[in-house]
Amino acid sequence: MNSIIFSLLILAAGCGSTPVAKPDMTSSRRLPAKIIKVSIVENALTVTVSSDSGIKAANLATGQKASFEANKTIVARPLTKSVTLNNEQFGREVSLTSSSGIIEVNGRNYRDAILIRNNKGKLTVINKLSVEEYLYGVIAREIIVNWPMEVLKAQAVASRTYLLANLGKYAESGYDVSSDVYSQVYGGMDSENPRTTQAVDETRNEVIVWHGEIAKVYFHACCGGHTDNTSDVWDGENEPYLDGVRCPYCYDSPHWKWNVTISRNELERALGKGFGFTTLSDIQIDKRSNTGRIKTLILSTDIGEICVQAHRFRLLLGVNRIKSTMFSVTRRGSYFKFTGKGWGHGVGFCQWGGYGMAKRGADYRKIIGHYFPGVEIERWSN
Ligand SMILES: [Zn+2]
Repeated sequence: MNSIIFSLLILAAGCGSTPVAKPDMTSSRRLPAKIIKVSIVENALTVTVSSDSGIKAANLATGQKASFEANKTIVARPLTKSVTLNNEQFGREVSLTSSSGIIEVNGRNYRDAILIRNNKGKLTVINKLSVEEYLYGVIAREIIVNWPMEVLKAQAVASRTYLLANLGKYAESGYDVSSDVYSQVYGGMDSENPRTTQAVDETRNEVIVWHGEIAKVYFHACCGGHTDNTSDVWDGENEPYLDGVRCPYCYDSPHWKWNVTISRNELERALGKGFGFTTLSDIQIDKRSNTGRIKTLILSTDIGEICVQAHRFRLLLGVNRIKSTMFSVTRRGSYFKFTGKGWGHGVGFCQWGGYGMAKRGADYRKIIGHYFPGVEIERWSN
C-alpha cells in the first residue's frame, strides 16, 4: 500500500457535513492517455517469453517480422545494440503480440503487447496495455480484495487518477510507470481478482478532478484518526483538497495503534553515520503539525543536539517499523519505546477509513468526497 504522514485535531468536516463528490457523466474532457507503457523487467541479461497461441515479433522501425510457435519458450538476450530472440537479431527494440492477447514473461502472464528493448547492453521489458487493463493488475495489490465493493471502487478511481496525474515521470526511460512502489505495484494478470476487476469496470474512465484538472491524489493504509495536510509532509504541495480531515472510521484497523521497542545500539547504527554522531542519549519530540504528527525530533548525541525531520527518521528506521510519524517516544534504560497510531504518510485517502465508511453504507463517491473535500468525480472520454 502506498503511504504518507499525520497530526491532531483540525477544523474538519464531520459525517453530517461531508462533501460528496458527484459524478459528472456529461464531461467531454479527454483522458491524457488510453494506452500506457509499464516497465516490468529492468537490467536483465536473459528474458524468457512464451504464449499458448504463438507470438508475432516485429521491429516496428525496420518492418522486420517473425513468428514463433505456441507454447515454445523464446529466449531474449541483448547483443551489442540489438535484442535477439532465439539468436535472431531484431534491432534495438522488438514488439511482441499474440492472438490470445496474453504473453508470459519470466513465468508471469501479461495482457496485450510486450516490448523488449536493449538499454545500454541490458534488457528492459515493457508491458504496453490500456489504462483499464493496467488497473486490473494494480488494485488487488493496493487494497484487501474481500473488502466492500464501494471501497474497492474508491481505490480504483484513486489509482486511475494517481496514474494519469503521474504520467511522464519516466519519459526519459521510455515508459510511463514502473511496476514497483515508486509508481503503483503492478503484477500483471496473475495479480488480478474478479472483485477488483469489477471495481475497475464499474468506475470505467472515472477520475478525481479539481477545477477541471486531474487531481493529485495520495492514499495510505490507515491514518490513525486524522489525515495529514500535504503541506506538512511534502514541501511545495498545498492543494486545498489535500488538507487533513478527521477520520473516525479507521479504528477497526490492526494498524490503528502500534508500538515498537528499538535498542539504543540499533538507533545509533541506523542514524549515527548519516548524522555524524556515535552515541545517542535521548530522543525528544520538537514540533508536531496541527493533526498530531511529528514534524521534527531532537536527538541528544555526543556531538550535541541534532534536529531531524520525522519523515526522514521514519524512512531511516524502516516505514514498516515506525509505521507513521504520529507517535510518542519514551526511553527505558538502553531501549526506546515508540507508541503510535496509523500506518503510512497519512495524506489523502485512508484505506481503512474507506473500509469503515463502506461498512456504514457510504458509496465510493462519498468516500472520495470525505478524503478529498471539494473534488468532483468525472467520467472522461478516451
Ligand atoms: Zn483513517
